Amino acid sequence: MAIITTTCPLCGAEREVEVDWNRYQKWRRRELPIQEALPTLSDSEREALKTGICDRCWDEKLGDPDEDPAILNPWEVPGPAGDAARAMLEEMRGGGA
Ligand SMILES: [Zn+2]
Repeated sequence: MAIITTTCPLCGAEREVEVDWNRYQKWRRRELPIQEALPTLSDSEREALKTGICDRCWDEKLGDPDEDPAILNPWEVPGPAGDAARAMLEEMRGGGA
């Protein structure tokens, strides 16, 4: 097992998510969708790994369809949270399921 520390790109909140390292790497290498690689995590934990975005920001900012802060500026977010956000956007652009 390993502890992944994510940082919310919107508010900077840190969160620790415990994962199976080998399975986590499979997801990082895109060998498996995150739901299959890390099925024991909650939706919110998977979201934290994918985007770093914390529950509070999902509720406060992403609940409003008039705003789109999730896509704010992931290219400028340093570290693994930025990597995750960029990977997610690339996945969305790629049109994958
Ligand atoms: Zn946040």
